[in-house]
Amino acid sequence: MADHVLALDQGTTSSRAIVFDGSGAIVSVAQRETRQICPQPGWVEQDPEEIWETQIETARLALSKAGLTARDVACIGIANQRETTLCWDRRTGEPLGNAIVWQCRRTAPACDDLRARGLAEVIQAKTGLVVDAYFSATKLAWILDHSPDARRRAARGELAFGTVDTWLLWRLTGGGVHATDVTNASRTMLFDIHRTRWDEELLAELAIPPEALPAVRPSSGAFGETGKDLLGAAVPIAGVAGDQQAALFGQCCQREGMAKNTYGTGCFLLMNTGKRPAASRNGLLTTIAWDLGSGVEYAIEGSVFVGGAVIQWLRDELGLLRAADESEDLARSVPDTGGVYVVPAFVGLGAPYWDQSARGAILGLTRGVGRCHIVRAALESIAYQSADVLAAMNRDAASPLRELRVDGGACANNFLLQFQADIVGVPVVRPPVIETTALGVAYLAGLATGVWASPDDLPSRRLVDRRFEPSMTDEERERRMSGWRQAVERVRSRP
Ligand code: ADP
Repeated sequence: MADHVLALDQGTTSSRAIVFDGSGAIVSVAQRETRQICPQPGWVEQDPEEIWETQIETARLALSKAGLTARDVACIGIANQRETTLCWDRRTGEPLGNAIVWQCRRTAPACDDLRARGLAEVIQAKTGLVVDAYFSATKLAWILDHSPDARRRAARGELAFGTVDTWLLWRLTGGGVHATDVTNASRTMLFDIHRTRWDEELLAELAIPPEALPAVRPSSGAFGETGKDLLGAAVPIAGVAGDQQAALFGQCCQREGMAKNTYGTGCFLLMNTGKRPAASRNGLLTTIAWDLGSGVEYAIEGSVFVGGAVIQWLRDELGLLRAADESEDLARSVPDTGGVYVVPAFVGLGAPYWDQSARGAILGLTRGVGRCHIVRAALESIAYQSADVLAAMNRDAASPLRELRVDGGACANNFLLQFQADIVGVPVVRPPVIETTALGVAYLAGLATGVWASPDDLPSRRLVDRRFEPSMTDEERERRMSGWRQAVERVRSRP
């Protein structure tokens, strides 16, 4: 019986494929790195063919490692790096140049222009997003501006726009399906998240022909079937979601008020706000969490630019560590940071400060401060920054957070998670499967094909690897947070 689910997780630095069994356990994993192409400072591209080739290769490899064939697979789910933008010729499948990656800043002037035209407010009201080069809209406009006759060809229906999910879906179905899901659509800055459709006014402002846009579908449901030759048999594709939304689902944050934090290079916090799109008054984004086929649900999102990356910096630039996991023992070898705060504002500060010109600092140095204090302060800075985003979420949300679910590479650090629990004053919960992005999209696909009957039946709902209970007194927490806030004030470019 086909009771396995194949999750494709196309990330910024690699393509991965993971096979899950019906109990939600990992059966096999395959991974291939993908190249970042940086033709100019601040520009980031990827080769669309490489994205596809590495992804299909890992899918085949994961199946063979698991000793399975396509007939053992009930369905496929696709989770992807969000916002990255492609455009291709519908007839030949030929892309118009490389994919423009979410990190690429080339369209910052186009975003300044949108703001100067007074569009920031209407864009935020419709899309839930802050005008920024991060999102797909200006990237697509750039591609259309830089390819001969592209706008006219698009208007004739000859070109297809897609985020990475759409590109993979197109290739997996042999060009048969041009579609995306609501979560990916909600990151384009072209999608009205309230009416759940492409927005004519924004398309007109950016001169994007609607004929180029994919159909928008629920995140869980039938998207199409893989071509028979690709994996050895046709397999239904039944789930699609952007990586952070997939992780929220994989953490089983299916109820309003539940939140997760992914501790990777940066930190991504998402809180489920249910059927209600919470408009942020605190610098967060409003986005679509998913649609299981019965209407969209929403989330608020905030990100920290430098999370685990501060530990890489200690290792690679300062040479204070040989490996990231040494940080835990070093931090524990001192009772506290000795009054030191590290503010890793290497690329400015994100939510809730939004200060592009702020730069990092180590504050509170005295003669007795050593490397362990600095390492400890660096780990604490990851938790403080996450606490700032959570405080903003609590102000925007109807009910305050009751526990924080965590994943990502740095969530292996027990010191960090205990300090996180202490400083936000709610339990922090680490699941046994921290591959929550792949698990989440496997769940979305499996729910649509009957592998799991309902969200209440998802196997990892109650599974916990470890729960970190807050143990700091309120006074202590307030004292430390106040020290952190003072440190942040010192690095801000404007008060
Ligand atoms: P990404 O998906 O963003 O590439 P990962 O989820 O793989 O990131 O996490 C890698 C990040 O986590 C790196 O920045 C690394 O410094 C950090 N990291 C990994 N292990 C630890 C650890 N034990 N303690 C603290 N940070 C860690």
